[in-house]
Amino acid sequence: MIIAFDDTDSRNTGMCTTYLGALLFEELQQYGKITNEPLLIRLNPTIPYKTRGNAAVALQIETERPEEVISHVIERVEDFAQFQDENTNPGVVFIHAGQVESCREELANFFLETVRQVITIDRAKEIISRNKLEARGYKNGRGLIGALAASGAALAEKWDYTYELLAYRQPENWGTLRRVDDESVWKADNATYPETWDNVDMSNNLVVCVPHSVDPVLYGIRGKNKAAIRETADTIEGENTERTLLYRTNQGTDMHLIPASFIEDLQDLHSYTIQLKVTSIPHTIEGGHTFFQSTDERGNTIDCAAFEPTKNFRELVRKLIPEDIVVLSGSVKEGTFNIEKLEIKKLETKSELVNPTCSSCGKKMKSAGKNQGYRCRNCKTTASELEMVEIPRELEIGIYEVPPCARRHLSMPLIRRDKDGYIHPSR
Ligand SMILES: [Zn+2]
Repeated sequence: MIIAFDDTDSRNTGMCTTYLGALLFEELQQYGKITNEPLLIRLNPTIPYKTRGNAAVALQIETERPEEVISHVIERVEDFAQFQDENTNPGVVFIHAGQVESCREELANFFLETVRQVITIDRAKEIISRNKLEARGYKNGRGLIGALAASGAALAEKWDYTYELLAYRQPENWGTLRRVDDESVWKADNATYPETWDNVDMSNNLVVCVPHSVDPVLYGIRGKNKAAIRETADTIEGENTERTLLYRTNQGTDMHLIPASFIEDLQDLHSYTIQLKVTSIPHTIEGGHTFFQSTDERGNTIDCAAFEPTKNFRELVRKLIPEDIVVLSGSVKEGTFNIEKLEIKKLETKSELVNPTCSSCGKKMKSAGKNQGYRCRNCKTTASELEMVEIPRELEIGIYEVPPCARRHLSMPLIRRDKDGYIHPSR
């Protein structure tokens, strides 16, 4: 049977759905055998009412005692869920072995939908009742959406995935400052990158695999190669961990991005990849957010933004000029495109008018007075008009990404793509 749950955590009090997943992964083995790699599923990252990371968990167990499994899980969810937090609305879904085939296709599709679309609680409840699934939704039941999605991930035949190893702190340390030796993280990263990624952020000189939130996670190591992930975890020095669990996850896959051709197709709270033409010179407002406008083939325009947390990525964006052709990946919020990745397809030639050059001595001419043209003081040569010269762009064709410190869980790090020099990974 499949056991999936969501939204047991809280932004304020430090519970974490993945921690409950790690506990249950161990505890449920008394009833049978866990048969899948535990799943950590990230849902649509733009949903405003999400708790921390919008993550749901699914485990699959082969058991002769399904009723005991169900009561154990429900008891644990009720023990751990942070019901007092108004944004915490837990949901648990159970899919019995006999139900797996009949709901496989619908839930596999639902999984992709929850990553890309905005799903109502009623929709999740309707699927649960029509398929006669055993489920518990607490409070407004929003967690049922993620729980169903995670079940769908367990049922889906094929999807791109990566891994994250999560190490949890000893409970007595929860809420206190984390003790992790930064040097050891840099060393571990150096040894395993690019088999692991987002341990550190080089351009911003930050350790990024150690969170600052109040949850029980000490660190999370992301990658595709399980041995390299374990090596990284073994190299990191710091406080004793209570337990670790390696999750298979849709993080780092770009699963949230919907291919789009026209601005009129873009909707708020969805994420896209779309080719556009820059139409304004980027400007930066107080607070450090950088904006520019761009247009599609039909002539509609949209505001595009690189927000302050994207740090050095903004320097790149500020070098764009009108007529540049770009492919943007990111999400639309309040009508603004928040950029996660930027592919530069074509750079417009940049030129400026400068004083003409003297054909004899090669020096710049000076103005000969208002409406008098230009003149070389040494050679007395003259010219009537300014000269157009090309300015180097200081930008290269290729694809760029926000730095690790600003990366969304779902965003695929460029290092996962072909290493052909056309990509410019941010490490
Ligand atoms: Zn001259």
